[in-house]
Amino acid sequence: MENKPVRTRMAPSPTGEYHIGHIRTLLYNLAFARQQNGKFIIRIEDTDRKRFVEGSQDRILQVIKDYGLSWDEGPDIGGPYAPYVQSERLNIYQKYIKKLLDEDHAYYCFCTEDRLTEMREVQKAAGKLPKYDRKCAHLTSEEVKTKLANNEKFVVRIRIPDNQTIVIEDLIRGKIKFSTNDVDDQVLVKSNGIPTYHFAAAIDDYLMEISHVIRGDEWISSVPKLYFISQYLGFELPKLAHLPVFLDPSGHGKMSKRKGTVSARSFLEDGYLSEALLNFLMLLGWNPGTNQEIFNLSEFIDAFSIEHLHVKQPIFDRKKLDYFNGLYIRNLTDEKFGQYFKKFLPTITDEQIRILTPVLKERTVKFSDLKESLKFLFEDVKYDKELLLKKGTSSELATDMLSKTITLLSNFENLSERILELIKTNNWNTGEYFMVFRVAICGTAFTPPVVDCLPALGQEATLRKLNTALNLLK
Ligand code: GLU
Repeated sequence: MENKPVRTRMAPSPTGEYHIGHIRTLLYNLAFARQQNGKFIIRIEDTDRKRFVEGSQDRILQVIKDYGLSWDEGPDIGGPYAPYVQSERLNIYQKYIKKLLDEDHAYYCFCTEDRLTEMREVQKAAGKLPKYDRKCAHLTSEEVKTKLANNEKFVVRIRIPDNQTIVIEDLIRGKIKFSTNDVDDQVLVKSNGIPTYHFAAAIDDYLMEISHVIRGDEWISSVPKLYFISQYLGFELPKLAHLPVFLDPSGHGKMSKRKGTVSARSFLEDGYLSEALLNFLMLLGWNPGTNQEIFNLSEFIDAFSIEHLHVKQPIFDRKKLDYFNGLYIRNLTDEKFGQYFKKFLPTITDEQIRILTPVLKERTVKFSDLKESLKFLFEDVKYDKELLLKKGTSSELATDMLSKTITLLSNFENLSERILELIKTNNWNTGEYFMVFRVAICGTAFTPPVVDCLPALGQEATLRKLNTALNLLK
């Protein structure tokens, strides 16, 4: 085992959108494999036909690519252990199920859904954990034959021994103990003849020579099944590392859709840069052992070590993500910044981009925010008179400010200087003036540096907005 080449895998199930946490797990598997000169594999685990979502496989592969990540073997590029999609490997699993049945490590179960539901309800009412009661575990081979000959529906279950303690070595958590009395005789092959995830994954990890499995800790409870399947089939277990899942910043439980964006795709759609997201994710469960915080992918690959993975649940701190994103945005070239700008605001002109890039690059947290903050460039503003006079400005004063500004802006040169001069000459309070001016131009109190944005708005639109605001005060 020690000298086996490192082969890690990510095994997405095409059951919906890829979660941001999956990208973190994938990143660790990829970094470890690359660092050890090993291979990183993508395998699609699609044996659960009930939860299958059409198109989800392609979307998952695409979003991984959109994060700037790649794999060495997988469904689209093939590899020496192809196919990499479980539904294309069904014939491979047959041999192993036969072996387990022949050696009595698995058995046919003919119990109906109704019986199982009733059984579970009784167990629940008695305060017990639902577990198969092994009604079919002791059928004679004659009984089984007859039932099969009668075409009775069946599943195949694993036989778990009683009263054993098994100890698994986890690379993050150390020893994890399980009592087999808590382990169910789990279904290995469903009534439709398709293997369950646990069974197919154990076989594939073995056949694909996976050396290390780094995955979320929601899979810890399934480790005993993996252990027995592997033991019965004579497979060596891969080394296991179970990562703690992210906590919501509120400190209340896991991240969930109700509390904000969770899908990997939606973070990109919100205008987070993939490099910033990756950097943020690198540190959600791992530390370099130094104070270094900024890593690009290749630096991370060099620095990564399983020993520095944490047991403690990391908090998904969106403010920290914003901080990373701002940092990465400031490091973009103007050209790249312009490209993102255009992607998020397709109606913006090249000239507007040229004017706004120096104004906005330093202060943009994420690109989707620009849509809101630059709305005034493309739409008429909805005014709120109270907001215009928010700083306690009287209607008369605001009227005076706006009329004099309108006169001033008949000349659209040196705006910043001349506006400041106007304020000085009239002895106006700067804060008060800019609240009136900002709301008149943008309709809101929080805006990008408004005077610097005026050349992008243009003289005509600027004067039109100022006049509309002025009329509102009459
Ligand atoms: N197919 C499982 C999933 O969707 C993979 C679990 C594992 O990594 O073992 O997450």
